[in-house]
Amino acid sequence: MTTTPPERACQEDAQSSIEATMNRRQFNCGLAAAGLLMLRRPQAMASGAVGDLRVNGARLNQHLAELSQFGKNPQGGVSRVAYTEADRQGREYVMGLMRAAKLDVSIDAAGNLVGRRVGSDNNLKPILFGSHIDSVPEGGNFDGDVGSLGAIEVAQTLAESSIVTRHPLEVIIFQNEEGGLIGSEAVIGALTEKELDLVNKSGKTVREGIKFIGGDTTKLATVKREKGSIAAYLELHIEQGGTLEAEHIDIGVVEGIVGINWWDVTIEGFANHAGTTAMNNRQDALLAAAKFIEAVNRLVTSIPGRQVGTVGRIQALPGAPNVIPGKVVCSLELRDLDAGKIQMLYQKIRAEADEIAKSSRVTFDFKELNANIPAPTDPRIRAIIAQSAKELGLTTKQMPSGAGHDAQDMARLGPVGMIFIPSIGGISHSPKEFSRPKDIENGANVLLRAVMRVDKANLSSG
Ligand SMILES: [Zn+2]
Repeated sequence: MTTTPPERACQEDAQSSIEATMNRRQFNCGLAAAGLLMLRRPQAMASGAVGDLRVNGARLNQHLAELSQFGKNPQGGVSRVAYTEADRQGREYVMGLMRAAKLDVSIDAAGNLVGRRVGSDNNLKPILFGSHIDSVPEGGNFDGDVGSLGAIEVAQTLAESSIVTRHPLEVIIFQNEEGGLIGSEAVIGALTEKELDLVNKSGKTVREGIKFIGGDTTKLATVKREKGSIAAYLELHIEQGGTLEAEHIDIGVVEGIVGINWWDVTIEGFANHAGTTAMNNRQDALLAAAKFIEAVNRLVTSIPGRQVGTVGRIQALPGAPNVIPGKVVCSLELRDLDAGKIQMLYQKIRAEADEIAKSSRVTFDFKELNANIPAPTDPRIRAIIAQSAKELGLTTKQMPSGAGHDAQDMARLGPVGMIFIPSIGGISHSPKEFSRPKDIENGANVLLRAVMRVDKANLSSG
């Protein structure tokens, strides 16, 4: 199974220890001045020069405030869970914005909102950009919304400037991101029957929900796109971690979305009387688990890098003060941008578990539950995002995304890039989630430039 587990999509703080901070705000004046001259003749910009073109930050922030009314909760955030009435109303609102931005709007069979804009060469593959507007229960007003409305603002800006890109453009608002990247799974043809039968927090199955929002699950095949069928996918998103704010960086250039592997680990010993069984005659599964947990932490930190490993759930059986634990079931989670590194660490952990098993007279059994392969972003798009930020006088930092995003699915189809803006306090999936209006505007301006540079760049042959 390839989905991010539902509770975890977009959830975790991006793990970003230390990476190169790339640049300082220093230059922009010359480029902006040069661009000014070009802006007088909008059509002259058709091949990707951006000049001093900017999004309307006040309008974008106003739209965010308006969208936050749908599913608004008393804590100041939103509960706009996919397939609820609030979700449907929010989508109606967003479709209105898309039409105002002169996009040709449709709901695909999976329920994603797609706004198309023709290019000057419609033999070229489309450049897609967007995000999602569904939220977790008691979520915030920025996760997904910033990238969705930022994408529409980019389209609006292009329309107002009468700019025609070479590539067709598609603003795509994926449905039910928080429930396991459902909309983008459909786009890559990975949405399974089993997932369609899952009941989400709206109380509806995914199948019912897709119908509720205007899709048609009998026609899902029409949604599937082939590998190589897109020129690029770009997504603006809040960081959901605290690194950018803490380091006073304006823009995160995402290196990729980490791979996430989950295992259930079962340790079997022998349950026996805690009063009468001598200390040297025990097969204590919980004691072995304690050694295992320590080993996971030690092995994961024994090599350089930003990999993380966690035992986050544990159950000891039978679970009584006067019984030696005979069985333990715990979780193991490993994340990194490099799938090979995850496997290497897993093998080390397995080998150490074997040692613990021998010395503690227990057995270990590992069952893989879930493996999301890492999704690296395209280095050419990373460079374009960094350059775009630099032209705007913004500071950047390369960083992984520790949370799942629709971009990881889209990476199966073609080159992807992600732009992060700071999350204040690193808080997300909470009504306290917040990003500053200026950072939102900055992110949308970087997205605008990046779209136009990708348009110029010929990333794919088609
Ligand atoms: Zn999100």
